[in-house]
Amino acid sequence: MLYLTEKKQNIQHILAFNLTSGERVFYLDEPQYSIGRYPKNSIVINAEGISRQHGTLIKKNKNNDHFSYVLIDGNIEGYKSKNGIVVNGERIDKSELKHGDIIHFTKEVTAHYYILDQENQGFIQKLTPNRFFKATSSHLSNLSKETQLVQRTKKKSTLLEIKNLASVVELSPIPIVEINSEGTITYLNPSANFKFPDLEKAQLQHPLLQGLIEKQNYNNGSLVIREVDIQEQSFEQHIHYLAKEKLIRSYIFDITQRKKAENELKYRAFHDALTGLPNRTFFDQHISLMIKNSERHNQLFAILFVDIDSFKNINDTLGHSIGDRILKCFAQRLTSQVRNSDIVCRWGGDEFVVLLSELENPDQAAKFSQRLLQTFEHPLNVEGHQIYLKCSVGIAIYPEDGQESEILLKHADAALYRTKESGRNHFQFYNPKMSLEIAENFALENQLHQAIKNGELILHYQPQINIKTGKVYGLEALIRWKNPKLGLIRPDKFIPLAEKTGLILPMGEWILKTACQQNKKWQKMGLPPVRVAVNLSAQQLQQPNLIETVENTLESVGLEPKWLELEVTESILMENVTLASQTLHELRHMGVYISMDDFGTGYSSLGYLKKFPFDTLKIDQSFVRELNQSPEDLSIISAIMTLSRGFNMRVIAEGVENQEQLNLLQQLDCEEMQGYFFSHPLSPEEIFNYLITFNQQKQLIFA
Ligand code: C2E
Ligand code: CA
Ligand code: CA
Repeated sequence: MLYLTEKKQNIQHILAFNLTSGERVFYLDEPQYSIGRYPKNSIVINAEGISRQHGTLIKKNKNNDHFSYVLIDGNIEGYKSKNGIVVNGERIDKSELKHGDIIHFTKEVTAHYYILDQENQGFIQKLTPNRFFKATSSHLSNLSKETQLVQRTKKKSTLLEIKNLASVVELSPIPIVEINSEGTITYLNPSANFKFPDLEKAQLQHPLLQGLIEKQNYNNGSLVIREVDIQEQSFEQHIHYLAKEKLIRSYIFDITQRKKAENELKYRAFHDALTGLPNRTFFDQHISLMIKNSERHNQLFAILFVDIDSFKNINDTLGHSIGDRILKCFAQRLTSQVRNSDIVCRWGGDEFVVLLSELENPDQAAKFSQRLLQTFEHPLNVEGHQIYLKCSVGIAIYPEDGQESEILLKHADAALYRTKESGRNHFQFYNPKMSLEIAENFALENQLHQAIKNGELILHYQPQINIKTGKVYGLEALIRWKNPKLGLIRPDKFIPLAEKTGLILPMGEWILKTACQQNKKWQKMGLPPVRVAVNLSAQQLQQPNLIETVENTLESVGLEPKWLELEVTESILMENVTLASQTLHELRHMGVYISMDDFGTGYSSLGYLKKFPFDTLKIDQSFVRELNQSPEDLSIISAIMTLSRGFNMRVIAEGVENQEQLNLLQQLDCEEMQGYFFSHPLSPEEIFNYLITFNQQKQLIFA
């Protein structure tokens, strides 16, 4: 209050007219002013539409410490003007003028009303009797140079200067809020009033004012910038601590849009665009937190690698846009299975990583995986397609399987790799042997490159026998790798590696050529001709020049096509059904025989058989192995026999190891067999002897 009284004489009330004839500025101080066309008025305005006595200004003292002017329409005797007076767009009879008011006496005659602090060349605006604002240089620091110049001049202001001074702060669109060191609000500009209507009510509880007083000691005289969120909006608050004036003044900038854009960018950086799931970057950030937390609380967590089985086929057959939809649905279903504290990330392609937090034991990760595999027993509905998905899961547990993100990931990946290898649609925990295996594979891979060149690959042959005729009618070529250091390596170990590295293609050509040459050699040696069966890998079948290769090989060797049979597995066919069907038909047309290997282990329905030109079905060993114990296997084989007869196909049972199996198969009318019971796969020399002596042995076998 004291402050106000002291400064009272410096306050200047100004009425500034904007007339067609020019500007006129009146500094008001008298108790009363009459405004009108009549020359006796204290303020004479000679313009069209102005009444003789158009309006009257009456000084009003308030609380002894300051005053205001009230504008009334007409004179004090009550005679109204002809055209009336409009203040801030509203017709008035009487109005207490405020700083910044715009007064229309006619359409053309306009005046502005300002309340300025003369000493500082700023302005002063009353809010409530004890609340005022005094413009000082710091107010203007953000504003134009022009305005600052005006502020420095000591002469009486021109209208332009007054307008500039008056408008800077008060009419600024930037909300300005000032409190004193006791925390009382001393000033709000109209923009602040408009934007934060509950500021006055909430006082220091308002987010914009919280913490300001507490901080002021540390920040005396300085500028602090902070971000404040109010409901959906974000603001940047520039806080000036004015030590001398004992004031804290804030300029508030709305940064909602900027924040939104920033958040959007941040979201994109941390999420996958297709599924909306967190991505690797998000995962990397999150996992370090998770490791710290788990370490502190002595807790377990699990990293699961989840991979959709045969997704490539789906993409190839149904197209990428449906593939994308399927990925989205998959992601949704996966997410629906986790708790809020867990995280599902898209790792890339059809690979996802799940972080299961706060586990009591690894068993929980197993249960989760089981549940997950089960949910995919129900099909996904995508654009009218019912899609049955299967997935494989590899699990690593913190801290048992690794204490760093990278190691845990590597181990979960190794477990996934193992799951895939052992038939998919399973889950598997990491075990340290896997790492060893992967290292071994790596070493093997390096040596495999040299194998063909060094002549380390050889073919063994296993006889296929018709028990009715008692004749060997075919030989299956099975590859072996004789490595000088590692000894004899079985194909199960190196064929997948050869496929992974692409080595399978040169290797496949070598196998085809060697088997054909060998067969021709036996024929030349005078043995009764037999068919040699060669296994085809997935990649070979997808080679556009496969037909040409087979044709050229047969021709160069001089072998008739009917002495060659190609074995393909169901899963190989499923990689690309259309292409496979076309290729196999052409091969069959050429006269080469085609058989379906490992029948019963793949995913294809029996209906698929019609699509392909198979001569022979090879019943997988797994059915034969438990024939004597499993009535289901018996009935499956029986069904296969009936079906194949319907399709005019021969059936051969693989893996026949004993007389009992032979008898059971015989009862089921299965005539052709292959297995250790007759012979293990043998080297070419051994086979030669085998074929020679078979006729004698035969008597023993079928006795
Ligand atoms: P496959 O095509 O199903 O070959 C039959 C496998 O069963 C052979 O294993 C054979 O030795 C084995 N076997 C034969 N009779 C019996 C039996 O009575 N009991 C048992 N337990 N097993 C028997 P092998 O030679 O280790 O080959 C394994 C797999 O490696 C093959 O399965 C085939 O998928 C692949 N493979 C072998 N040679 C080649 C090849 O030249 N090219 C390609 N692409 N794959 C090959
Ligand atoms: Ca085979
Ligand atoms: Ca087989």
